[in-house]
Amino acid sequence: MDTPDHDSLVTLRDVDALRHRVRSWKKAGLSVALVPTMGALHRGHIELMERAHAMADRVIATVFVNPTQFGPNEDFAAYPRKEAQDFDLLDKAGVHVLFAPTPSAMYPPGFATSVRLSGLSDVLCGPLRPGHFDGVATVVTKLFLQAQPDIALFGEKDFQQLAVIKRFTMDLNIPVDVIGVPTVREADGLAMSSRNAYLSVGERAQAPALYAAIIAAARDIAKGTDPFVATDAARRAILAAGFRSIDYVEARTSDTLASLGPGQCSGRVFAAAYLGRARLIDNVEIES
Ligand code: AMP
Repeated sequence: MDTPDHDSLVTLRDVDALRHRVRSWKKAGLSVALVPTMGALHRGHIELMERAHAMADRVIATVFVNPTQFGPNEDFAAYPRKEAQDFDLLDKAGVHVLFAPTPSAMYPPGFATSVRLSGLSDVLCGPLRPGHFDGVATVVTKLFLQAQPDIALFGEKDFQQLAVIKRFTMDLNIPVDVIGVPTVREADGLAMSSRNAYLSVGERAQAPALYAAIIAAARDIAKGTDPFVATDAARRAILAAGFRSIDYVEARTSDTLASLGPGQCSGRVFAAAYLGRARLIDNVEIES
């Protein structure tokens, strides 16, 4: 019998075991939070766990490096995997279950289904990472149906992903409350990310320029600068700081991700750029 206090963390790898556990919690009247991740956990992830803990009686963290959200030339093989260290961090954070399925448990032979969104998936990272958001939407739909949580928490660091997840959850009437959590940053402003591990010492020193540039653009837009002018200045600042190339720096609304035109200042500034072999993304709110 589960007690309301934290027992030690349990790792589950198959869906039946997860379902069984969640059923017993629900029978006992306990609420359940889900926090999906790809592991290599950092303080940003742990913030999500702590918020989940404050909002629900039981917390499930998932660690699954989802192959279907990586393109053929992306970093699936190189993506950092640190399950033992992740386990300790999750245990300390009071998480109850670590769900870490194998790829074949998630995608058995013959798997043929995909959740695809139009609109929100067609801008920013969408065209640059074909199939990425379909992979995210499909795996998160599966995790929602497998765990059947009351709430699920996602970081604003991946703001487009959060918007996509909110959209399909509403469109498909999935009874999960999707909650966004503000980005956790290093002291110098760099958004925490598992991919920051790819940065050399020199690149790590250059990396905060991305955040500095989009913060400056957001401030200028709030003061009335044309969003195209402000984001163009940000692009130049990012390249001047040593970034190799820029995928985008754009000002868009927070709900539909529509481009901001001259005189519009309600939304966020989004950026994606390469520093060495790391593709860094970030976004900030325009506080007007
Ligand atoms: P990932 O393991 O990168 O797929 O991230 C798992 C979850 O943690 C996603 O909802 C991310 O948006 C969130 N996340 C990643 N980095 C941060 C951060 N620096 N601050 C807040 N949430 C984050």
